[in-house]
Amino acid sequence: MMVRPGTIAAHVDAERLWRRHMELARHGATANGGVDRQALSAEEIDARRTLVAWGAAIGLVASNDDAGNLFLRLAGSEPDLAPVMIGSHIDSQPTGGKFDGAFGVLAALESVEAIIASGARPRRPIDVVAWMNEEGSRFAPGMMGSAAFTGARKLADVLAVRDAAGVSVTDALAAVLAAESQLPRRPLGTPVAAFVEAHIEQGPILEAEKRTIGVVTGIQGKRTFRVTVTGEENHAGTSPRSARRDALVSAVAMVQALQDAMWDAADVVRFTIGRFEVTPNAPSVVPARVVFSIDLRHPDTATLRDLGDRIPGLCEAAAGRCAVAVRELLHDPPLTFPAAIRDCIRAAAENLGIAWMDIPSGAGHDARYLHYHGPTGMIFIPCKDGLSHHEAESATRDDIAAGARVLAETAFGLSVAE
Ligand SMILES: [Zn+2]
Repeated sequence: MMVRPGTIAAHVDAERLWRRHMELARHGATANGGVDRQALSAEEIDARRTLVAWGAAIGLVASNDDAGNLFLRLAGSEPDLAPVMIGSHIDSQPTGGKFDGAFGVLAALESVEAIIASGARPRRPIDVVAWMNEEGSRFAPGMMGSAAFTGARKLADVLAVRDAAGVSVTDALAAVLAAESQLPRRPLGTPVAAFVEAHIEQGPILEAEKRTIGVVTGIQGKRTFRVTVTGEENHAGTSPRSARRDALVSAVAMVQALQDAMWDAADVVRFTIGRFEVTPNAPSVVPARVVFSIDLRHPDTATLRDLGDRIPGLCEAAAGRCAVAVRELLHDPPLTFPAAIRDCIRAAAENLGIAWMDIPSGAGHDARYLHYHGPTGMIFIPCKDGLSHHEAESATRDDIAAGARVLAETAFGLSVAE
């Protein structure tokens, strides 16, 4: 079926889309205008019910899977073909905003609603998806639903994770699935013709460059480490410097050496020590042990590898009289989204006269796992001051609508492509 560019986008209703953001944000609303809707919480169950109801009102068929991913399907003229998937997540950080994740799911729902209103018929089914536990704040690590769906992690491993209160994913998920007992359960790992995730940028670039759409080129790579420095506990008043094995002194030397080694003039390396734990952490005791975290990110595979590989040696060289153990916890290489999907997004923005630019993603997203499962891409829109994972997170009604228009055109185009 031939549909002129812009036909679908013309049916995106900016007012409805904005209203839905505000309505969804009531589930887990915080006093400061943010959202606390952590994965598999009662608030998220309510939000999912709202989504299912909005889908049902326009004839979408809801389903879920054993990992708690939620799908709303628009049938295609060839219903047995692999679907185009569009969506993101609706769980939030404990002090999250109204737009992280929610925008991608609501823009996907709006896209499908626009396709229906236009009278155009997709060839492939289109699934609006909300992936389970992207944020990883209650159950770590994040992106659990997409990891289980794509096989990047075993479902059993995901189910065994517990939150700080000792509640397992198994038990929390059981409550979600019980609340949706009327929905059919679909298998994990089914083929996906394409996946497109719309998301707020969570950074300042689009706003600074005055562009409405970011055509995401890929996701930078990430390595994480845990460094354990072991010294010896002693009395702060009686033990001479020459006899001390002070774990904090050694750890600080490591931090300084690492900071110097990771410094780059172009400011592309992202190097963060976000956790630093001193034991026994008592004012009059020489520290016996320090454990600190390292989060290293870079868009270039070789640079990420080389910088990360230097970390154990740098720590050892700065250890002084203490012992140090460096353990790598994660190594996700950088990825580049396929040109075919990026071209579709770019063409949609061009046809609609919306200013766009290519942009890498600094943060991880469910699209990281989908990338290895089927052709995947992402669409960014600006967020105010680049602020995210914050209750004041904000995006404009116009930018949200523009993102939905580009997503709607892209999704329909992919659904009729050979
Ligand atoms: Zn997100």
